[in-house]
Amino acid sequence: MRHAPYELAAEFDRRLGDPSDAGRLFSHARCAALDDREEFPQEICRELDVLGLPAHYVPTEHGGTLRSYEEAVQLMRAVARRDLTVAIAHGKTFLGAVSVWVGGDRDQADALGAEIAGGTIVSWGLTEREHGSDLLAGEVLAERVADGYRVSGEKWLINNGTRGHLVCLLARTARDAGPRSFGILLVDKRKLDPASYRTLPAERLHGIRGADISGIAFADAAVPGTALVGPEGGGVEIVLKSLQLTRTLCASLSLGAADHALRLGTDYALRRENYGSLLIDLPQSRRLLALSYADLLLAEAVTVVASRGIHALTGELGVISAATKFFVPNLVEQAVKRLAKLMGSRALLVGDTHEHGRFQKVQRDHRIVGIFDGNSVVNLHSLVNQFPLLAKSYRRGTVDAAGLTAATTLTDPLPEFDRDRLTLLARGGCSVVQALPAGVAELTALVARGEVPESLERTAIGLKLAADELLAAIAAQRPAAVDVPAEAFDLAERYTACFAAAAAIQLWLRNRATVVDGPAGALWRSGLWLEAALTRLLGRLRPARPDGTDDVFERLVEPLVAQHEAGQLLSLLPYQQQEARR
Ligand SMILES: Cc1cc2nc3c(=O)[nH]c(=O)nc-3n(C[C@H](O)[C@H](O)[C@H](O)COP(=O)(O)OP(=O)(O)OC[C@H]3O[C@@H](n4cnc5c(N)ncnc54)[C@H](O)[C@@H]3O)c2cc1C
Repeated sequence: MRHAPYELAAEFDRRLGDPSDAGRLFSHARCAALDDREEFPQEICRELDVLGLPAHYVPTEHGGTLRSYEEAVQLMRAVARRDLTVAIAHGKTFLGAVSVWVGGDRDQADALGAEIAGGTIVSWGLTEREHGSDLLAGEVLAERVADGYRVSGEKWLINNGTRGHLVCLLARTARDAGPRSFGILLVDKRKLDPASYRTLPAERLHGIRGADISGIAFADAAVPGTALVGPEGGGVEIVLKSLQLTRTLCASLSLGAADHALRLGTDYALRRENYGSLLIDLPQSRRLLALSYADLLLAEAVTVVASRGIHALTGELGVISAATKFFVPNLVEQAVKRLAKLMGSRALLVGDTHEHGRFQKVQRDHRIVGIFDGNSVVNLHSLVNQFPLLAKSYRRGTVDAAGLTAATTLTDPLPEFDRDRLTLLARGGCSVVQALPAGVAELTALVARGEVPESLERTAIGLKLAADELLAAIAAQRPAAVDVPAEAFDLAERYTACFAAAAAIQLWLRNRATVVDGPAGALWRSGLWLEAALTRLLGRLRPARPDGTDDVFERLVEPLVAQHEAGQLLSLLPYQQQEARR
């Protein structure tokens, strides 16, 4: 099966050339050297500009080439697979611009679209040194004056805070407490009086060491009234809605990191001989690889459904984005940590001795994905806030059937993204999770027809029971605004696992007939990848009752090696990668 977002990413990857060729601009060798020198990947970012990546940050209605967020995810994954510093440094412009796509007027959005397509860098100034993710405590002040605003205060830990030409700023427009006291200003640094602002030095970081993570301090900076995005007082709402998009898209960074780490791990296992055996032939190494592959495929399934959900289940994105932003980076972080055990000392080497020290770099770089754009706790808290709606909707079995079908059926065209359907609270809960019981019943029917193994059915039923128990516990939680009990975070974390299970089941059910004959056929036939993914999740949700069979992981090794040796992306929908085969 040929799927357009993957085809687009494959084509982009092809145009970037082979990263293992040190003569290439966007090569592993160059990325390692830049990281070593803590140097910004300026030339590589310029190359991405030349190849037209910025236009993919701009919706087509505003003059760009962003047709679907699923495409954006696969493109950004392809960049992140080579280097996370580059992906985060370049992709930041989308995050800087998104508030305008979500809350700006047409002229503003068209003008910004033209700027971005021409190479303008946009940063996003939300966080302040003293307040972290507590956006309502923000102190940067935008005081209304006759011709616009006077802005004072500091935003800190801002990606491209120094290099950005424009900064999309969340600023206090009223001194009262509460969410209606903030506005968004799209500040053009090029037009500010240079005496009215200064950029802060870039902070040194553990990962993404070449990125410009700095800040900006304003001192009575004159900003025109036309810079206001959306209504005054509407800033927090626009930011929270924008975060629903960006948190979903962040999963692309994790997928890219997982692609990179698993490729390194598989390559090592296929070449390294210990005690007369290749690592790939040792049961423990096979297990480490297979578990990591299962995790990558699960993360991919969740990301595909969530990114399609931006279009098809827009009103439920408050749940989908929080669940995805928690689940995918955490799962990938664990997978990379597991692969580090396989790599042994090679996971730590820096420099030219082994693969340009790529493994330690990807492991360091990826740690940031779980922190920015809403850290893990913030995303779980957001789910806790929606517990009453989630419990009620699960009990009633509320499902937006058309939206769910579009989000999960890869051959269906996606509806246009409609920003007016974004809501802060998902009133209908989460159709993906609420369709879990029906999905499991469908699997049961397939078992009866002999189309999937009973082991898959047993695992799926175990997950449905776990979901029933979990949603009952969620229903029994008493709402709390600030002092949320630790137990609620645990329930929210488990909810994200149910979301992942339900997304995977729907994705497999809706596409098994179309994908089964393609290059990933072995994964899709008899539900192999699904069974592996669900077994992983059941192990988390009901650790005392490992109903799934471990043998499924052994069966996963063959397609993993086949994809790797064919030079393909390790994926549910693989394509030929540019990286040279050895
Ligand atoms: C590399 C990098 C790039 C960044 N880029 C940007 C950017 O471009 N623009 C921008 O605006 N910001 C950016 N940030 C800032 C980032 O968004 C913040 O670091 C993030 O919001 C978390 O803030 P904090 O680390 O100060 O933690 P805090 O929010 O102060 O939280 C500290 C700890 O408190 C706990 N906690 C927090 N919230 C809750 C809660 N609701 N319930 C229970 N416990 C909680 C958690 O344990 C958390 O780790 C960046 C940060 C980094 C490191």
